[in-house]
Amino acid sequence: MEAPQEKKPVFFPDEGYWTAEADGLHLIGSRCTKCRQNFFPPREVCPKCFPEGFEHRMEESKLSSRGKLYTYSIVQVAPKRFLPPYALGYIDFPEGVRVLGQLTTSDPAKIKIGITVQTELGRIAIDEQGNEVMSYKFRPL
Ligand code: ZN
Repeated sequence: MEAPQEKKPVFFPDEGYWTAEADGLHLIGSRCTKCRQNFFPPREVCPKCFPEGFEHRMEESKLSSRGKLYTYSIVQVAPKRFLPPYALGYIDFPEGVRVLGQLTTSDPAKIKIGITVQTELGRIAIDEQGNEVMSYKFRPL
């Protein structure tokens, strides 16, 4: 008989997509060295400059730890292994990037379009082995 496996959190995407600092979690994207456009998740090639060739490069770009809620929805019927109800929103960062993610709140009445949110780590789902799946989330301030 096998011993029960210890549950441990897994990260999705992997931890290379963010960095924790004193003022909170910062997502790590990429920036085009030619047109200065930021992207998250990071891209290998800038889709704006691509038609002009590959001579320019992408560099790492750290997003602010706070952004503004562009819009959101309360998810009542979720994909397998997600834990509804939860709020899913698009966050606009000062770097010109819009990111989709779950909002951290037990009170949906606190969620309003335009509010400031703080990026943080939190559980977004449970995997097939019963481990918590941790990822970036956005907490209304
Ligand atoms: Zn570009």
